[in-house]
Amino acid sequence: MTLELRSRPVVDQQISLLKKQCQELRKKGVIPSLKVLLVGDNPASVLYTKNKKKFVEKLGGECEIYKLPSDVSETEFLKSVERFNKSDDVHGILIQLPLPKHLSHIDVTTLVDEHKDVDGFHPLNVFKLFKGHSESNILAPCTPKGIVTLCKHYGIELKGKRVAIIGRSLIVGKPLSLILTNHNATVTLCHSGTKDLKEITRSSDIIVTATGAPEFFNKSYLNESGNQVVIDVGISKNSEGKTVGDCDFNDMKDNVSAITPVPGGVGPMTILSLAQNLLQAAKKSLYP
Ligand code: NDP
Repeated sequence: MTLELRSRPVVDQQISLLKKQCQELRKKGVIPSLKVLLVGDNPASVLYTKNKKKFVEKLGGECEIYKLPSDVSETEFLKSVERFNKSDDVHGILIQLPLPKHLSHIDVTTLVDEHKDVDGFHPLNVFKLFKGHSESNILAPCTPKGIVTLCKHYGIELKGKRVAIIGRSLIVGKPLSLILTNHNATVTLCHSGTKDLKEITRSSDIIVTATGAPEFFNKSYLNESGNQVVIDVGISKNSEGKTVGDCDFNDMKDNVSAITPVPGGVGPMTILSLAQNLLQAAKKSLYP
């Protein structure tokens, strides 16, 4: 029978662990504190930031959504980040993307102090992945980190596995390729220029789709073993307005050993990783 890789049990289990860690930190006088910088009022961004705040507060941490008007000057925006970088009471900073057009030229990956970089985008944090550090001990990009947490929970072995990742973005595909390589998987990173994609996916043990193409992948991308694992990172709307992933779940589910649903699969793992990164940063502040 196909295993559905649902995030709910993983998140529930991790929440109790994180709550305990939060209590320990509070006893030592540290209240894990996250600042989320939100520029403007993009409805999707407002919703994402609210969800992050709710999650951090549920663990016993603090989260302020620091709102700036959509026409905030570049100087004012940079000053706000710098103030949080310097504050000892702030352990994590997140700049909610996308930024308005007049700020979009700013490379946000280098703005947030590397020790408060709960998104895991800072070049120094990314370089740790290049060097082979485990994603669980560093501030690693949240979605890739969450994928590994999900795999570990469900006993999906990575070592020695052939993995096809489809999508090479800086937030998903590329860091995931490093993380899985560090776990001794053999990774093929695919993109729109990849030739014979089906040949690659069919010869892989694990397929990770992160393209944003709604229900693009179907069982023709699978081999006939029935043993492959599919991890669907994509979140988009199909033509009927329903939230779907990159994979045609119903078409693939009976032909694989495990598959993530959308919604309820990879999505919530990203917020979980963010909270893990925040607690890690708060702990580090005790022993810099
Ligand atoms: P990007 O748009 O930055 O990257 C998409 C990648 O997919 C690109 O590398 C592109 O190739 C590749 N691609 C697109 N179509 C094809 C195709 N038909 N065949 C092969 N490769 C293809 O996307 P993101 O990584 O930011 O996001 C991907 C999806 O994951 C989105 O649906 C997004 O909403 C979702 N997402 C979900 C998260 C979660 O928490 N679950 C977190 C982050 C993203 P090329 O580089 O050649 O253009």
